[in-house]
Amino acid sequence: MSLQPTLFLGHGNPLNALQQNPWTRAWSRLGRELPRPQAVLSVSAHWYVPDRAVTAAAQPRTIHDFRGFPPELYEVNYPAPGAPELARRIQNLLAPLTVASDESWGLDHGSWSVLCHLYPQADVPVLQLSIDAREPPRFHYDLGRRLAPLRGEGVLILGSGDVVHNLRLYGWESRPVEPYEWAVRFEAQVQEFLQAGQHDPLIDYGALGEDAWLSVPTPEHYLPLLYTMGAAGPEAAVSFPVAGIDGGSVSMLAVRFG
Ligand code: ZN
Repeated sequence: MSLQPTLFLGHGNPLNALQQNPWTRAWSRLGRELPRPQAVLSVSAHWYVPDRAVTAAAQPRTIHDFRGFPPELYEVNYPAPGAPELARRIQNLLAPLTVASDESWGLDHGSWSVLCHLYPQADVPVLQLSIDAREPPRFHYDLGRRLAPLRGEGVLILGSGDVVHNLRLYGWESRPVEPYEWAVRFEAQVQEFLQAGQHDPLIDYGALGEDAWLSVPTPEHYLPLLYTMGAAGPEAAVSFPVAGIDGGSVSMLAVRFG
């Protein structure tokens, strides 16, 4: 079985689930072009909890974890099956670190808003791994490294977040908003480090200064990137199927490793 790439997607606005735009078209293209996985392990910004858990339900529910959006978005159902055996495999792989089997979460919009474009038939099993909010960035990178064997077992490791995610400054109106300069600079800086295989500065992103602080005011949308970096390793080929800033302060950057 060929080695699966790992993939980080900037998911941006939940409405992308319903839209056809340059970003969603790029996600659809990835779904057609990537080697078809046997399962997806998704690490979503929206399951950021003080716990380590993996979804273990045979049929995970679609979670509508947002407020104030049009009714159509609450009607989206993404009925991909789960993969309980793969959940056990992940628990064994990460032992002696404990990872709980979770039957109550499901797929949050960080997962389904992009997967509905990648795999519109919802015919690839999907699991989610929580992001343990108690741990520092390097923990998440190392956890990604320990998940690397799954790439040889047909599992696509997907990180879903946004490398720049400042909602306080996000332009919610439909009119186009000029990107903030710090957002453009930080997105470019992330791309440069990734292309050079320099992972340490991206793990210690807090030391990168004001552009990083404005771009990553809270860690949950950035950390999924570290899982995909860790699982791929610094030697992996890197490409950017999507780049650019939405609403002034949210990066849609997508990174393919391998
Ligand atoms: Zn989000």
